[in-house]
Amino acid sequence: MSAFCGSTIKCKDTWIIDSGATHHMAPKEEYFSTIDKSFHIEGIALADGRKASSMGKGAVSAVIKSDNSGSVVKFKTENTLLVPDIKYGILSVKQLIENDREVLFNEKGCFIYDKTGNLLMEAKERDRLYVMHTEPMKESEVVLNSMVRKETKSESLDLWHRRMMHVSKHKILEMANANSVIGLNCKKSSPTPCDSCLAGKSTRQPFPKKPTDSVDKRTTILELVHSDLMGPIDVPSWGNKKYMLSIIDDASRYVFVRFLDNKGAALNEFKKWKTEIEKQTGKCLKRIRTDNGLEFCSKNWTAFCESTGIRHETTMTYTPQQNGIAERFNRTVLDLVRSQIQESNFPKKSWAELIFTATYIRNRVTNTHDNQKTPYELWTGKKPSVRHLRAIGCEVFVHIPKQKRFSKLSKRAESGILIGYALYGRGYRIWMPATQQVVESRDCVFSKNFLQKNHYPQKIMCMKVSKYNTSVTRLQMNIKMT
Ligand SMILES: [Zn+2]
Repeated sequence: MSAFCGSTIKCKDTWIIDSGATHHMAPKEEYFSTIDKSFHIEGIALADGRKASSMGKGAVSAVIKSDNSGSVVKFKTENTLLVPDIKYGILSVKQLIENDREVLFNEKGCFIYDKTGNLLMEAKERDRLYVMHTEPMKESEVVLNSMVRKETKSESLDLWHRRMMHVSKHKILEMANANSVIGLNCKKSSPTPCDSCLAGKSTRQPFPKKPTDSVDKRTTILELVHSDLMGPIDVPSWGNKKYMLSIIDDASRYVFVRFLDNKGAALNEFKKWKTEIEKQTGKCLKRIRTDNGLEFCSKNWTAFCESTGIRHETTMTYTPQQNGIAERFNRTVLDLVRSQIQESNFPKKSWAELIFTATYIRNRVTNTHDNQKTPYELWTGKKPSVRHLRAIGCEVFVHIPKQKRFSKLSKRAESGILIGYALYGRGYRIWMPATQQVVESRDCVFSKNFLQKNHYPQKIMCMKVSKYNTSVTRLQMNIKMT
């Protein structure tokens, strides 16, 4: 057991991120929220050559003041040793990683993220060490404190209902019971009616329970996909798209969506999807099922299927009951988006963003095809986490790095509205009414209050989004890390 400790740093309430330490260590008992004092270890090697002993082990709760962003966050570490002989607290990189944290070192400092990409703590480099300071929390900084979620606290069914874009409350309880996803810490309560759902009830069936999607025997991944093209949508998306191509894997019911300028682009998008997905999964697409739409029955499609050996099945070949998986998805997802636009007052042009978000959620919700495992799990073999989900339409503060602020008095965060989740990697997509941009950020704080309709003045909500010049399908290029 060892710990590296520099000696040139001011010692009061200082913590060091230490890649050499085997354990978290704290010098004072007052840091501990729980402690087992019967736990003793002798001979902990310190960097200055001394040996120290631990006088207990437990959980530390403290408040960290970040030097880089000025934000204040709470942190909690389990299995921390009380070592009175050290001068400052030590956070062991090894132990952080073991506890599912991600630790990133770069020229700006050291950044510690949770599994879902929330920034938990950051430390500044000083004398070749990564240092943080603890401080009492101030009233004005409480909002930034929500950066760290209290993972043990369970949250209301109503809140999860909004986070999952109004998926049925019974379904949410069912998923919590079946342990279908990670992090669904939902309070067990009897479902009460939701105003938004009631308002849209006549047309809306968020996640249809219609059985008999297919009377075929179970398929394997990529053995069969369903595809459908929807459009033109009367209002072009922010990325100027008018059509949506959906592709649904039959075995997992995992859904992919692509947005197109015109119908003719469908084949090309499908080819790109096929190449990407076959590469990723190492499996080959065998059959595709579509309706008899002209775009799917063109010479080019036929030629493509022939040259790749993919069998193309159309509704002509099958009874209508056996088809319709992709068509039904398109219909229901559009209903969802309509309600969300109404509820949160997003501009109509946001439809592609919202369809993407609805698809993201749907892939993480079980359905009648398999009521234990989500499409995500059937597709990837891994249980998805929903811990990072937030209510679409809620107010978000996107952190502004120090170097981008004009002065010390400038705002630390810019306000926006949550519109979705990063396509690649971790992060959130946020619509910023002030700058009229959709940005991606990992470093943001969610307002506890839901965004009410008309929270933002109507004229801002309806302004043209001038800087949004890429489509969801070309998301990498649109990423603007803040
Ligand atoms: Zn609802």
